[in-house]
Amino acid sequence: MLHRFRELLGSDLAIDLGTANTLISVAGEGIVVNEPSVVAVAEGSRRVVAEGCAVGHLARQMIGRAPGGIHVVRPLREGVITDFDLCEVMLRYFLRKSQRSRWTMRSRALIGAPGCITPVEKRALYHSALRAGARQVFLMPEAKAAAIGVGLPIHEPVASMICDVGGGTTETAVLSMSEIIASQSVRVGGDLMDQALVEYLRRTRNLRVSAPTAERLRIEIGSASPKDAELTQDANGVDVVSGLPRRITVTSSQVREALVEPLTRIIDSIKRTLEGCTPDLVSDLVDQGMVLAGGGSLLRGLDRLITAETGLPARVAPEALTAVARGTLICLEQLDRYRPSLESSDDEL
Ligand code: ADP
Ligand code: MG
Repeated sequence: MLHRFRELLGSDLAIDLGTANTLISVAGEGIVVNEPSVVAVAEGSRRVVAEGCAVGHLARQMIGRAPGGIHVVRPLREGVITDFDLCEVMLRYFLRKSQRSRWTMRSRALIGAPGCITPVEKRALYHSALRAGARQVFLMPEAKAAAIGVGLPIHEPVASMICDVGGGTTETAVLSMSEIIASQSVRVGGDLMDQALVEYLRRTRNLRVSAPTAERLRIEIGSASPKDAELTQDANGVDVVSGLPRRITVTSSQVREALVEPLTRIIDSIKRTLEGCTPDLVSDLVDQGMVLAGGGSLLRGLDRLITAETGLPARVAPEALTAVARGTLICLEQLDRYRPSLESSDDEL
């Protein structure tokens, strides 16, 4: 009977609503949706193109390629919702997809949110999830979710440190006895790195490349540490002067030079987090090291750069891209245990 009732309400969901990727997990099942946070709609409307299917992977392929009349949108920037309507459209699509075989969508949802989120942005998150079909929404800091997801012993009286480098933000936190002791959230991530590389190639090579081209270069030959192997790759763009297409060869050290500014900002935020810790916590961290998660942490040599700049051994978590999703899923499956520490839409509305 209780089971039937539960089913009628829909299963509980954990949502990692990232600037770059959205992951949805179902309690008792695991990750069921893992797609880019992109939606393509007919200009001036909320109608999703391609018969309602241009969300996620399909929409991402349309970036920079869609004809006039089609609007390809990333509804989040720097970790927060910037296009409320289309975020709801995207979430509704993903929620429906995650609930395919179930009766209803009236689920409870646990969402990971950046530490730097403002009260207005928080309300937007609640509303978006509620309007997309959730019954009740809980929020938890993404950094804590990532720490749980990578298996750090956050409940113990010993310092654990996590740094989640996403598309839009970098979340750093030190935790002990289940609480965040010190944290920093900065609006720097893969997107800003791509922007820096676009800017660098325009300035030094007179070539205009798209953000997806910059992202491909960063992923394939990018490096943060001079000790990394030097790789090269060709990139197509448009000559700034002639306006004609041109192809250039880019090297790892050029990408590294382009990324100095955003990487410095990430390292500064790690240092500021450490400044908020007692000497005993810092000394734990010298032994335990820090764990990197998020897609941005996969930049070659970032772990080595952070180790060199902070003196703390840094290592990239296995499956760095799913750390937050796995962490929120663990909390969702133990909701009774975590609930007292979670903010909920019921407190707000
Ligand atoms: P978000 O949580 O903001 O959605 P993710 O943790 O999903 O972000 O990470 C997305 C970022 O990771 C993108 O900027 C993407 O370019 C970057 N990324 C993904 N794979 C790699 C890789 N192998 N090397 C470097 N960066 C990567
Ligand atoms: Mg993320």
